[in-house]
Amino acid sequence: NEQQLASLDWAKVDNLMPVIVQNRTSGKVLMLGYVNQESLAATLESGKMTFFSRTKQRLWCKGEESGNFLKVLEISTDCDNDTLLAIVEPVGPTCHLGTESCFKGELQPALTFIADLEQVIAGRKGADPQSSYTASLYARGTKRISQKVGEEGVEVALAAMAKDMDELTCESADLLYHLTVLLQNEGLQLSDIAAKLQERHSK
Ligand code: AMP
Ligand code: ZN
Ligand code: ZN
Ligand code: ZN
Repeated sequence: NEQQLASLDWAKVDNLMPVIVQNRTSGKVLMLGYVNQESLAATLESGKMTFFSRTKQRLWCKGEESGNFLKVLEISTDCDNDTLLAIVEPVGPTCHLGTESCFKGELQPALTFIADLEQVIAGRKGADPQSSYTASLYARGTKRISQKVGEEGVEVALAAMAKDMDELTCESADLLYHLTVLLQNEGLQLSDIAAKLQERHSK
C-alpha cells in the first residue's frame, strides 16, 4: 500500500489526484475530492481524509468545521496510478447539504438499500410503540422478535417447497426485516454477520 502510493503518477494529474470516497459499511460512494502530495501525507498522518480544496486553495480536512470527518481505513490506487479510492467510516453526513452522500441519483446499488433500512430500523429504538411496527417489536422484546424470526423462517421454507417465487420473495423480505430487528435488539449489525461470512470464506 505504501508502495502503491509511492508509484502515483502526480505529473499526469498536475499534482491534483482525484479521490473517490466510499463508505466501508454500505458501499456507497460519498463524494469525490482531490489531494496533492501534502494533503495525502496529512491524511495518512491523521487518519482523517484531508483534501486540497480547489476553491479555498489550501489543505481542507473534511469535517474541520462541521465535525463530519471521514475516518480513513484504506487508500488504494487504480490500475494506472492516477486515481485514489479511500475506504472510510464517516462521522455524520458527508455532504454539506446534510445527506450521507454528495450524489443524489435515484438508482443505488440494490444491496446498499439494506444498509439504509438497517439505519431506519436502528432509529426506531425507543420510539412510541403505537407509532411504528418496528418500535412495537422492540417494546415486546427478544422473545417476541425471535418468535417472528422463527415463523418467517418457516414461511420461507414452505414457499420454497411450494415453488412459489412471489411468496418466497415476500417471505424472505419478512425474514430479513425481522432478523435485522432481532440483531439490532441484541446489539448486532448486519455488517457483523457479513464479517463472519467473509471470515469463513477466506479460510
Ligand atoms: P466541513 O469540512 O464539513 O467542516 O465543511 C466546511 C465547508 O466545506 C463547508 O461549509 C462547505 O463549503 C465545504 N464542504 C463540506 N463538505 C463538502 C462536500 N462534501 N463537498 C463539497 N464541499 C463541502
Ligand atoms: Zn486510472
Ligand atoms: Zn456535497
Ligand atoms: Zn411472512
